[in-house]
Amino acid sequence: MRKDFGVYLHVPFCLSKCPYCDFCSFPGLSEETRAQYVGALIREIGERDFPPLTATSVFFGGGTPTLLSVPQFDALFSMIDARFGLACDAEITFEMNPATADREKLRALHALGFNRVSIGCQSFSDDELRALGRAHDAEEIFTAYEDALAAGFDNVNLDLMYGIPRQTTGSFGKTLETVISMAPEHVSAYGLILEEGTPFFSRQKELALPGDDAEADMYALASSMLRDAGYRHYEISNYARPGRECRHNLLYWRQGEYAAYGLSASSHVAGVRKTNTRDLSRYLSDPVRATAEETVIKDAEYEYIMLRLRLTEGIDEEDFRRRFGHGFRERYADKLAPWFARGVLVSDGDRTALSDEGLYLNSALLRELLP
Ligand code: SF4
Repeated sequence: MRKDFGVYLHVPFCLSKCPYCDFCSFPGLSEETRAQYVGALIREIGERDFPPLTATSVFFGGGTPTLLSVPQFDALFSMIDARFGLACDAEITFEMNPATADREKLRALHALGFNRVSIGCQSFSDDELRALGRAHDAEEIFTAYEDALAAGFDNVNLDLMYGIPRQTTGSFGKTLETVISMAPEHVSAYGLILEEGTPFFSRQKELALPGDDAEADMYALASSMLRDAGYRHYEISNYARPGRECRHNLLYWRQGEYAAYGLSASSHVAGVRKTNTRDLSRYLSDPVRATAEETVIKDAEYEYIMLRLRLTEGIDEEDFRRRFGHGFRERYADKLAPWFARGVLVSDGDRTALSDEGLYLNSALLRELLP
């Protein structure tokens, strides 16, 4: 059976810094620095010692990858192709923010071989977009989506957020209605997280956040509305038309192997996770050796449980036994019993998974199972 292998590229350019964001991204980098960064990525792809497996998925994430020029996309894409080769059915995604790529640019990217686009929408309410400090409005999301379709993309993800300051379950419901009427192939809906060190973290008392109960309601609303509209809720925060699940992200959740390039990018090959530095000047001066951390995954069993329980496919007993020498349900029987009793966990004999309601309680269960 062919082994899936992913390639991730991190593009840390942004138009402005959203006040909740702790991703490794920088607004206002000069053309010259961007060009240097692309040169460093090309060097890293050419010289890092990842196995030369055929890539079944490629993901340009960020930041805002669509701030790369078409020739820069072309150079990076050609380098990945030369280094790994691409499977004929490879899923090749780039993330974009509205108003950072027009129809012509999207056409050029489609012609290069990209076949999936993930648009960072967050919300269709202009008030909420302003509260998030986003650099676009709802109208620009519609334009980006129409341009992507016109450019030939037939696999589009729309990224949403809930738990936004002053957001209500009603306003989130309107955003969901809009998304459903647009009928993308994939929808992601993530709760806002207050990350330490961000302006939102220090101003959290003034933010008029909706609160835990409202957030739980929004989560449940997304799950029920999107499922009713024909999407499969396949991961805690991800929904797809059948067969349109994100193959690249599934590699992460299934502990597959992937090479990752660029600032802060994390690769996973042969049980070793390597994470690149977040220091731009260090990366630019030596992209091949700019690994900040190398971790051999010691608690593979806990990591497996943690990742698999994000997925509605859950944990397969036979696979678990083959990897760890004991069954999941037998090993954790005492800790799991109350969760089964509450209906948070369900099992069909071979597989154990969180129920629809239980998915939201994933972190509470994991805390209990912590070694
Ligand atoms: S556009 Fe995305 S990566 Fe850039 S600052 Fe905003 S949230 Fe962060």
